[in-house]
Parts: sequence; structure tokens; C-alpha cells
Amino acid sequence: MKIIRRKKDLNKIINKINSLSFIPTMGGLHKGHEFLIKKAKKENKVALVSIFVNPKQFNSKIDFKSYPRNINKDLKILKKLNVKYLYLPTYKEIFSFKTKNKIYLHSFSNRLCGKYRPGHFKGVLNVVNRYLELIKPKKIYLGKKDFQQLVLIKKHISKNNIKTEVVSCNTIRYSNFLPYSSRNGSLSRYSTDLASKAFKLIKKEKKIIKRKKIKKISLIKIKKKLFDFGIKKIDYIEAVNLNSLKKAKKYNEKFNIFSAFYIGKTRLIDNI
Ligand code: AMP
Repeated sequence: MKIIRRKKDLNKIINKINSLSFIPTMGGLHKGHEFLIKKAKKENKVALVSIFVNPKQFNSKIDFKSYPRNINKDLKILKKLNVKYLYLPTYKEIFSFKTKNKIYLHSFSNRLCGKYRPGHFKGVLNVVNRYLELIKPKKIYLGKKDFQQLVLIKKHISKNNIKTEVVSCNTIRYSNFLPYSSRNGSLSRYSTDLASKAFKLIKKEKKIIKRKKIKKISLIKIKKKLFDFGIKKIDYIEAVNLNSLKKAKKYNEKFNIFSAFYIGKTRLIDNI
């Protein structure tokens, strides 16, 4: 595996290969990332993975500093997966050039996580746009676990006529239904069980809405149950129509239940 740190080395590779698939990550690699990488490798021969913890998408310095980093473990995983290129930029490499595209923030950025993490999606799009300008990948692989991020990146790409195809990838979960996340490492056994119980409850609620043909979706009772489980802080729990991106009202819409809550200091998100 070749580790690239500088733009000039990146350019050499890009000039050589005209069909790169790109998987951006913040490291702390897990089975979810592995799935994206394997899919990219299967569909397109040459995969380029990036690891960069982007300070611009964090709301607090403490959160940025405590974000899990384990480059040695990440390197082992990437080597095991036979990844050809790893881009490991510094802050300066990424942010010291002038971009061509203007960041397009669709209004969906004001909802859900956007409402509770001001500036977060602007920070995400800033770095993703820079990657796209630098790497010009044929395809970019993104997880539906971060559905809002995925949609906003798609909207930015389309608005700026960027010639990169977005490949949406399913959420990979543990057998207890908890989605893999770099932040899971900080959860105790008790907290893991609690998170699993919470996401399973949300999954069950979606099934009930469908089965009982509920005409006016309300998640108030579920929210109360989550508090009863012992969850102290819920940012949101909301049914969202996956096409219109508006609040879902009825069972027969194509919707997911989006949630963000804290277990101790760890913020978990999912959409089911
Ligand atoms: P991150 O390192 O958290 O920024 O995530 C990098 C990419 O992996 C993003 O496109 C995420 O949506 C995706 N991802 C994170 N967790 C999962 C998961 N459990 N299953 C599938 N994809 C995931």
C-alpha cells in the first residue's frame, strides 16, 4: 500500500489512473468502512482511502481531540484489504489551496443533525469538495448510516456539475443491531446494551407503523420509552421521507426513523 501525504504525489497517481474509486474516512476503521472499501474494490479496480479527522466538522474542540485515532490498527486493516492507496493529508495540505467550486448547502442541512451541530455540514462539504477537486474520483463511496451527509454531498456534486458518481452503501451492524461506528469504542458493556435496545425499539416501531397502517406518525411515546430506558439526552427522533426529505406523516411513505441521542458523553446517530 502506498501512503500519500502530499498533493504533488497525489497528482502523480491521479495522472496515471483515470478511474479511481474514493472512500473518505476519519479513521478508527471498522466493519462499516471495510464494507465500503470492499464494495469499491469490487466495482472499480483501484481504491483510494483517505484518513483525515476534519476539525472543521466538529462543534467542540474537546470532541475533536477525543475522536478515536488508531493509525496502526487502521493500517493493518487497509493492508489486509489490499488497498492500493491511502491518502493521509495534513491540515495544511487540505486547506491551503483556493477551491474552484462554491459550497452548496441544501436546506436539508438545517434539519436533524444540522440543527444540533451548527456548522457541521458546512465543515463536511468543505473538506469533501476539496477531496473531489484534488482527487477527481470516478466514484465516491458513502454510507447511508450518515444519510443526511450523503444527501448533502449528492446535492453539492449535482449543483456544481462535478463528474463524480456517488455510491450509497448500506449500514453495517453488529448482531445486536447496533451500527458500527468509530465512536462505539467509548461505550461500556452496559451502554452498548442500552444503545442496542434503543435502536431495536425504533426498528420495531417502524414495523408497527407499517403493519398497523398508521395514518399520522407520532414518535412521542417512543421518545418517552427511550428516556425510561435511561437515555438522558435525545437530540431528535423523527420520521423522514427519503425522497422529499420532509417529515413523514403516513405509513405508506418511503421513510426512515432518524435519531440522535447521547449515552453518557457519546452521541450516537442512526436511521432505520
Ligand atoms: P467516518 O469515518 O465516520 O467519517 O465514515 C466514513 C464513511 O463510512 C462514511 O461514508 C460513513 O457513512 C461510512 N460509515 C460509517 N459507519 C458505517 C456503517 N456502520 N456502515 C456503513 N457505512 C458506514
